[in-house]
Amino acid sequence: MGQNKKIVVIGSGFGGLSSAIRLAAKGHDVTIIDKRDKPGGRAYQYEINGFKFDGGPTVITAPYIFDEIFEAAGKKREDYFELAPLDPFYRIFDSNGKRFEYMRNEKDVLREIDRWNPADKDGYLKFTKRTVEIFNLFHPYTDKPFLRFKNMLKIMPGVIRLGAYSGTHSYVKRYIKNEFLRKVFSFHPLLIGGNPFDTPSIYLLIMQFEKEWGVYYAVGGVGSIVKGLADLFGELGGTVKLNSEVDRIMIQGDSATGVRLKDGTVMEADIVVSNADTAFTYRNLIPEKARKKYSNRQIDRKSYSSSLFVVYFGTKKRYLDSKLAHHNIIVSKEYRRLMKQIFKGSKLPDELALYLHMPTRSDSSIAPEGSELFYVLALVPNMKADIDWEKIAEDYKNKILDFLEQHYLPDLRENITAEHYIDPPYFKNTLNSHYGAAFSFTPTLLQSAYFRPHNRSEQFKNLYFVGAGTHPGAGVPAVLSSGKIAAELIESSIKQKSA
Ligand SMILES: Cc1cc2nc3c(=O)[nH]c(=O)nc-3n(C[C@H](O)[C@H](O)[C@H](O)COP(=O)(O)OP(=O)(O)OC[C@H]3O[C@@H](n4cnc5c(N)ncnc54)[C@H](O)[C@@H]3O)c2cc1C
Repeated sequence: MGQNKKIVVIGSGFGGLSSAIRLAAKGHDVTIIDKRDKPGGRAYQYEINGFKFDGGPTVITAPYIFDEIFEAAGKKREDYFELAPLDPFYRIFDSNGKRFEYMRNEKDVLREIDRWNPADKDGYLKFTKRTVEIFNLFHPYTDKPFLRFKNMLKIMPGVIRLGAYSGTHSYVKRYIKNEFLRKVFSFHPLLIGGNPFDTPSIYLLIMQFEKEWGVYYAVGGVGSIVKGLADLFGELGGTVKLNSEVDRIMIQGDSATGVRLKDGTVMEADIVVSNADTAFTYRNLIPEKARKKYSNRQIDRKSYSSSLFVVYFGTKKRYLDSKLAHHNIIVSKEYRRLMKQIFKGSKLPDELALYLHMPTRSDSSIAPEGSELFYVLALVPNMKADIDWEKIAEDYKNKILDFLEQHYLPDLRENITAEHYIDPPYFKNTLNSHYGAAFSFTPTLLQSAYFRPHNRSEQFKNLYFVGAGTHPGAGVPAVLSSGKIAAELIESSIKQKSA
């Protein structure tokens, strides 16, 4: 067999695109297969009545990770899409609507802390020093594989020394006294599907990612990033096969030999990369009797992230006089209890935990003239909970819109001209996510790094994993890095074999 391989990538999420581009740039014959009609996975863009709604990620950081993908193909990212910096990164409201401007610059953050609790300024400075230490220690591992336990042993002394195993909220609590400010500086785990009260503070490194590189808006929406990546893949000779669902990874001994589609088509491959949900891939695409690790029971017993209920809506009037910024977080009153109900509960909580996106603040090209585009995201339990979404989804949507109308967007209901929502069954049935989890496995210590399913299957030597369910985890920078890790593992294995 030559150096150039036939590679099938299941799924066109950011993890799939990142690996596929790198592999195509090395000259391999790469085909991406996706069950949906457009690429992007969670970053699917809905076009409704002249509005372009980004379906998933909206907070973009660490542009260098995108730049590296284009550089790997000898191109420049700026020629494909534009990233515009945002500041404030977030506007965070307490349950009374009082706000905190979450800015990049330390001086500005201290000014905000001064408005809330001046006594917390010193603690904040000590806290950020710690965050930088956490970042310096763990950042180098975010684009490296964790295939061996000895890799884990290397980082453990640092984890212990910095106390980075303790929950993010309690870590912040050591430095900050004001309860609202504690929430402000510990919310980042929510971006990757973790409960701030449980997620180890190693993940504070996300906060530092934003400080180091900034928070960006993709002009034209995140859909323009997906388009840029898909275009690049096409230019490199890659093929994207849409509306095609893989229903089996074909296995012979300890190797994958290709994939079978739902319509019976068999596609042989030297290497298979799965960007489909990792739990789903093991559980549904590889027969249980062929698996030595990851039995159905083991998979089901893992801890899964929350799910999400997201309402996308466009209005025929602008809300420029509202108190909203581009990214808004609305913190609930009974925050700790609510987080417990969302992450561990079996019922739908009464209170709402909301993120409100208003991208037309920065870019009016994504909506008809004189209109405003929003999406509001509510954290909800995944489908392990006993909730009949078919029955309650419409009421739940109305409850969220009523809340916004009452507190943030007057006359909202009479101004809506485009609307769509997604719920946990969407994550389960459309995106094939086990239990409808929006971010795959929760980022606990025992489900991170070496303990997360590896980027190369522990059993099948030419089966690789990219995306939120593998190392380094959920979130755009992480899944893009998983694509880099998998592509590098594939290259080095090809080189070893031909040496
Ligand atoms: C609403 C929302 C908001 C978010 N906000 C942010 C944010 O602001 N910033 C951030 O960094 N992260 C955010 N995230 C997280 C981030 O979007 C995800 O972690 C990331 O996009 C997941 O990428 P992925 O590579 O795992 O693939 P996915 O996007 O999960 O794509 C997987 C693809 O595989 C396809 N597929 C599955 N099974 C099959 C099969 N059998 N055959 C063929 N195709 C299949 C699916 O159709 C899908 O296209 C958000 C997530 C959501 C849901």
